[in-house]
Amino acid sequence: MDSSQFTVGRQGNARIGVQVVYETIRKLNLVNVMFIFVCLFTWSATYADYQYRVSTDAELKKLLVNLCFEGDAPAELVAESLDASVALLGVWRESGEPIKISGVIPTDQLPNGACINYQVDISRGIQRHDMTGPKVYRSTGSSGVSNGLWFWRPEVFEKNRQVFVEFDLPADYVVTTAWNETDKEHVFEVPKTPYDWPSWTVLGQFFKKQVTVGSAQLNIAILNGSPNPDADSLVKWIELEASFVDKAVGPIPYSNVQVFIFPNARARQPVPVAYVTRGGVPTLHMMINQRRSMEEFYDDWTATHELSHLFLPFIEPEDAWFYEGFASYYQYVVRARIGAIDEAEAWSKLIYGFHRGRREAEARELTLLEATEKMYAGEPFMQVYWGGAALMLTADVQMRVKKDKIGDWSLDRVVREFNACCMDRTRAWTAKEVLSKFDEIYGSPMFVPLMRRYATSNDFPDLADTFGSLGLEVRGSDVTFIDGSTQRLLRDQIMSTGE
Ligand SMILES: [Zn+2]
Repeated sequence: MDSSQFTVGRQGNARIGVQVVYETIRKLNLVNVMFIFVCLFTWSATYADYQYRVSTDAELKKLLVNLCFEGDAPAELVAESLDASVALLGVWRESGEPIKISGVIPTDQLPNGACINYQVDISRGIQRHDMTGPKVYRSTGSSGVSNGLWFWRPEVFEKNRQVFVEFDLPADYVVTTAWNETDKEHVFEVPKTPYDWPSWTVLGQFFKKQVTVGSAQLNIAILNGSPNPDADSLVKWIELEASFVDKAVGPIPYSNVQVFIFPNARARQPVPVAYVTRGGVPTLHMMINQRRSMEEFYDDWTATHELSHLFLPFIEPEDAWFYEGFASYYQYVVRARIGAIDEAEAWSKLIYGFHRGRREAEARELTLLEATEKMYAGEPFMQVYWGGAALMLTADVQMRVKKDKIGDWSLDRVVREFNACCMDRTRAWTAKEVLSKFDEIYGSPMFVPLMRRYATSNDFPDLADTFGSLGLEVRGSDVTFIDGSTQRLLRDQIMSTGE
């Protein structure tokens, strides 16, 4: 970020500075007063409204936070995780007097420009009230901590407020987080994505590297483990995966992306758990089994799936059928286009997915929206993922076969144009909002009618026409390819490497 926005000034200095200028103004004529006001405005804008200074012990058991408010303190502070109160060890005024907490930290009694201190237990992955996964990941020499566990902040920061977080760490420790880097080491500015969107911080000794793919910079953090992961090979793998989506779909629509790689997962697959968080800079979290060979990492579709999520904005979880369907469709399309799998395999995998989704829908008799809701309670998700993917394929094929449209339309083009014109990354979207924009871009209603037809229905999307256009003869999960030239051309358009 621009250095003029950065402040090293502590709260106390800022107040003294303002006082001195105010005293000076009283002694000057109006012209000078105007001049000084302009300077004062510019100058005071460089000071943080909220300044967090965070320190930790060498064992990474606690975070000690000093928080100073510029001007009035807010009425109270809240944290995103339901377990933040459990992890909170105590809160004190600057004088040392304890502040009693009750689910929130009351701060309405604090004087102007006050500071508080609080401590947070990060020694374990507390999961008492918050069932959205552990909030602490401990590894050899470093820890990942969900910001929702320790970042106490007002419900809403006032507009134009600046929030800086500075980490004071033991020697040789580094930090990375989904917040914006400043040009001072270990100091971050909290960006304006909604504060209840999850984000994480990794602290301690770990491997850190930046790579650039297209116009996106990937900040990769790989934690140590036992055995230690092969960080150089993992960086190459992520870089290649990001270049796959960049080449096959379009430029990754963010200038910065965080990638957190946590080792020691016990599973047969190389990446058994992965997800994207959207607070601040979008972040890919990948729990890996570093004992698997790099060949297995290169054969795995998980990274392609997660990176595909970046082409859509944050969408409300009740519409997960859309974003999971989108990523499930592209995970095979992208891998076929760059030649990681062959076209026939990509079609077979998609069709096997549709088969599983259809069987699950028939067995459970839930609508797509109901199945999505129950997925969050740990219930099966094949209908959700593959029902959504079937709708993406249907739309893609409908656009590609339509002869009366000017230009060549495809899901790729709609997605690229959506990212160029309309993707607001600072708020949550509904599926209907995104799909309405897709229809606007395409120029006729198609996505929203497909959603209306299937989201509130138990019917798995009818793919008969789509398969017909593609020359796919499908029985159960078995597929035969019909070699008509039009059908073959259409299949190639979707899956081919273009060589
Ligand atoms: Zn996903």
